[in-house]
Amino acid sequence: MSKQENSNKYGITEKYKSKLSWLFILFFIIFVVSFFYINYVKNLVYGNVYTNITEISEQTATQLNLSISEQKYFVKIMVDSIKNNQFKTIDDIFQRYRGDLQNFHFTRLVILDKQGNGLTSDGLEVKNYASIDEFFAQEEDTVYLSEHRPSTVSNNQVNIYSRIFHFQGEEKVLMATVNTEDYQDILLRRLFGKGGTYVINHSGDILIDSFEEIKENNVNLFEQMRKNYSTNLQEINEMEASIQQNKIGTFHIAQENDTYFIHYEKLGINDWYIVTILSDDTIAKELIRIVTTSISLCLGINLMIIVIAIYGIVTNEKKSHRIFKVAFIDPVTSLGNEKYFKEKANEYLQNEREHNYIITLDINKFKALNNIYGYDFCNCLLDSFGETLVKILPEDSIICRISADVFGAIFTYDKDIEILLKTILKQTASMKIGTEFVHLNLSIGVYPFGKKDTDINKALDKASMARAKIKGFYDHNYYIFDEILENKLMEEQKIECSMEEALENQEFKVVYQPKILIKNEKVMGAEALVRWEKEGEIISPNQFIPLFERNKFIIKLDLYIFEQVCRDIVSWKEKYDFIPTISINLSKAHFENEDFIEEYVKITDKYDICRNQIDLEITESATVDEKIDIVKILNRIKEQGFLISIDDFGTGYSSLSMLQSMPIDIIKIDKVFVDKADLASDKNIINYIMILAKRLEVETIVEGIETKEQADFAKKLGCDIIQGYYYSKPISREEFEVYFNRNEI
Ligand code: C2E
Ligand code: CA
Ligand code: CA
Repeated sequence: MSKQENSNKYGITEKYKSKLSWLFILFFIIFVVSFFYINYVKNLVYGNVYTNITEISEQTATQLNLSISEQKYFVKIMVDSIKNNQFKTIDDIFQRYRGDLQNFHFTRLVILDKQGNGLTSDGLEVKNYASIDEFFAQEEDTVYLSEHRPSTVSNNQVNIYSRIFHFQGEEKVLMATVNTEDYQDILLRRLFGKGGTYVINHSGDILIDSFEEIKENNVNLFEQMRKNYSTNLQEINEMEASIQQNKIGTFHIAQENDTYFIHYEKLGINDWYIVTILSDDTIAKELIRIVTTSISLCLGINLMIIVIAIYGIVTNEKKSHRIFKVAFIDPVTSLGNEKYFKEKANEYLQNEREHNYIITLDINKFKALNNIYGYDFCNCLLDSFGETLVKILPEDSIICRISADVFGAIFTYDKDIEILLKTILKQTASMKIGTEFVHLNLSIGVYPFGKKDTDINKALDKASMARAKIKGFYDHNYYIFDEILENKLMEEQKIECSMEEALENQEFKVVYQPKILIKNEKVMGAEALVRWEKEGEIISPNQFIPLFERNKFIIKLDLYIFEQVCRDIVSWKEKYDFIPTISINLSKAHFENEDFIEEYVKITDKYDICRNQIDLEITESATVDEKIDIVKILNRIKEQGFLISIDDFGTGYSSLSMLQSMPIDIIKIDKVFVDKADLASDKNIINYIMILAKRLEVETIVEGIETKEQADFAKKLGCDIIQGYYYSKPISREEFEVYFNRNEI
């Protein structure tokens, strides 16, 4: 889970990728469907054209057949009537039928003998007609129709019907001529643009052509097609072979930008075929073009919608990524933040794995590092620390920064956890930032969680409890949640269950620890401390204050103690002239409500107590909490007239500039500095704090003075006030009354 993989880690890009791939799949499907649809429409149109062309051919053939049959029938009737009627001369015959010729579209009748000599119905004489043998080669009773040929009397091309008959003992042939042109009218002129209808013989010679002038020398359709549709020779050869085998057929060929549909079938006259050639020029082409354009248009619109959708997804993605980053990512380390940690850890808790751990790691004295090295440097340190954790912890660990200097991790590890923890300690003990080496001291709390753990907050609390167990010790840096803590937790649960009731039952009592002014060795005041008297037993604040701070019950308790102290002061005021200054601890939990001080003011007003008789103690650690505006809060306290002490001074690492801007009256030097001080030397922290206090012009109290040597030491350093067992332990109100009314201590 390195930082480079952040986007994957947060699962955002996965969703994003899947959305995009769905869009691409959609687009691909639309594309394929369109492609097939165009083809389908094309086939549909082609199928239609096939049907149409067949119909056109059939109709043309029928019409042609009808026309030829009529003419044949007329020739047959004429010859039959010649046989039955006693015509004297050829001219008589002509005479009889001349009037009917036009009705049957004949141009003239010709009667010739075997030598090709004879007469025409329009009075012309024919001599040695060259093709006479062709006509006498036919059977006697059949009506023969010839292919076209040039007329002997005009420039026209003509077809000739003929039938052999006997006239006055001599074999003759009756010929009736038609202009080939007349048949062209039957064949459709220009079928849908390019193409046409042809009547051909078996060899492919064009006998009738729908639009060309019929030429004297036969033009061969196959040759012509080979020339015109040169890229489709195979199909044309197949057509030729088919016709030779008396077959019919339909096919299409593509030539340049045109498609030609071709249908051929027998005409039923001689060996003649009718061939229809149709181009897709108008109907089909136009239709396909419309379909293709509309589908392309649809495709284009689809594409546009998809592009807009992709754009939307991408910008949305960027936006949600930005929102996600702001909400879930810690900008300093690029790891997740507390919110992210809890969300992910909650998911993790639901899994069925074993050997799971949740750990919290605190960099000890990080505030001090901040003061020494500055924010930017320490941000680099945090970043680098996070990176080191990512490297050491198992790959699918969830690692986050859950607060300023506290990191959290949740992972599965089936080897020795202590070795892993030691590795972390070893590798982070000295961190190189730029050219500087920084020595880090960590506190790690470990909670091994199992299937019964489903609440991340509880699991985190347990890890933090384990961590709290070692905070401040220098000999061990990690603690694994164990039975001792489990018992403590149970104890705490018991406390939580009984705290409200205890408050109502007045089980919380105030004790006072006197404070001695060094210069006259007189009691100048006392610190009010809480005690819980439960079933005859006294519970120390250390056992419940940290818990009450977490569950915020401390807010109620502090106010309660404050009111008790006020009552005591009221009673002292009635009895004594001198009233000591009382210090009361104020938890930082109050600071979440900026107006909290109003409650305190109300109580002092209620008991008519002068507020400068009361000193509110605020721990130094509360003054360095980034989330609260401490200066503003302290100013409001000060405005009301309370005194302000900074408790446990020296442990919270407040900065000098911060101290300068805070309206404080007293600095309370923590007990640890007394314990650690080399009483013989001037070079100790208390000494420096004294110098600082003088500069800030505030009073100093040293607490935890247990021996005469310590008291003398504090005096020597110039402290103003001493508090500690050496003078007195915290005592009851009654005892304290006696204590401060004594003349000597
Ligand atoms: P603190 O405010 O630093 O109070 C001083 C603690 O040091 C007291 O412990 C006191 O009994 C102890 N002490 C004083 N002189 C000596 C000494 O010479 N030697 C040793 N070993 N200890 C000495 P206590 O009363 O147990 O209170 C512990 C902490 O609980 C306090 O530390 C304070 O932070 C908190 N606390 C106590 N009462 C209240 C309260 O009413 N409200 C809040 N918010 N916190 C309280
Ligand atoms: Ca205190
Ligand atoms: Ca203290």
